[in-house]
Amino acid sequence: MGKAKYHFNEHTLNYDRIDNTIRHRLIKIGQYLIGSILMGIVFFVIFIFTVKSPNEKLLEAENKRISTQYELLSRQLDDAMEVLTNIQQRDDNFYRVVLQVDSIPSSIRRGNYINSNRYQKLLRMRTSDLVIATSQKMDMVSRMLYIQSNSFDELVALAKQEEKKLQHIPAIQPIPNKDLKRTASGYGWRIDPIYHTRRFHQGMDFSAPTGTKIFATGNGTVIKAGWEQGYGNAVFIDHGFGYVTVYAHMHQLKKGLRRGSKVSRGEVIGFVGNTGKSTGPHLHYEVRLKGKPQNPQNYYFMDLSPEEYDQMIQISANYGRVFD
Ligand SMILES: [Zn+2]
Repeated sequence: MGKAKYHFNEHTLNYDRIDNTIRHRLIKIGQYLIGSILMGIVFFVIFIFTVKSPNEKLLEAENKRISTQYELLSRQLDDAMEVLTNIQQRDDNFYRVVLQVDSIPSSIRRGNYINSNRYQKLLRMRTSDLVIATSQKMDMVSRMLYIQSNSFDELVALAKQEEKKLQHIPAIQPIPNKDLKRTASGYGWRIDPIYHTRRFHQGMDFSAPTGTKIFATGNGTVIKAGWEQGYGNAVFIDHGFGYVTVYAHMHQLKKGLRRGSKVSRGEVIGFVGNTGKSTGPHLHYEVRLKGKPQNPQNYYFMDLSPEEYDQMIQISANYGRVFD
């Protein structure tokens, strides 16, 4: 324990205990300090709520720019969606119609983003409406693009198949006959040239001199080449897609042509003759689809103009001479 110290007070003429005075002073200093700190806090709080730091000002300016940018983006997305909608309409109403495929429902094309909760986390933002709307548009555009690109892939594949089909199905006349003079008789009920009874003629006859070239009418594979009862020397070609063509009464088959030979449209496969059940040199030509005889006049579309086609129908519809 230290000794108590005293200090002579000139005003009161008393001795005051020194530690007393120090405590007094300390208390005063303490009060002063606490007061200052409180004032500081008050000023600080007022300051941070009223005055913005340079950093905050920067952020605010940046936010404004982002908002403007979002609005711009939103408008650009509207434009992109309009273009895509246009493409979709052409896709559904033209390409898919031409290639005979169903259109894609718009619910699949656009997806369901309107009521989706995938934008929940964006709701906390002050500009949430704009940001959510823009995000929805962006998602929609991405999806539309994805579906559209798939659709085009599908259509390209179909178009290629169609192209292949067009090369294969019979589409020209089987002999040189630009002036149609060799068209003798068509498909339908005719009087049999030998038995003189009504009989269904399953093909079309082209009268032509012996030795006239005979063409394959579409790309395909020979499935029969040689003698066939009634047909004489004949060639059967399988074109795929359900089509088979028959060429009968040939004088000669092209040399080397045999079962399995690949032929293309316009290729010579033999020569006109009078073999088998036939009453004169001619080519008997048949088109069969899935085993059923078709009217060959519907399969000259690569050869004849519409006028020539009409003329051919008139000629082949006559009940004149059939060579069988
Ligand atoms: Zn015939």
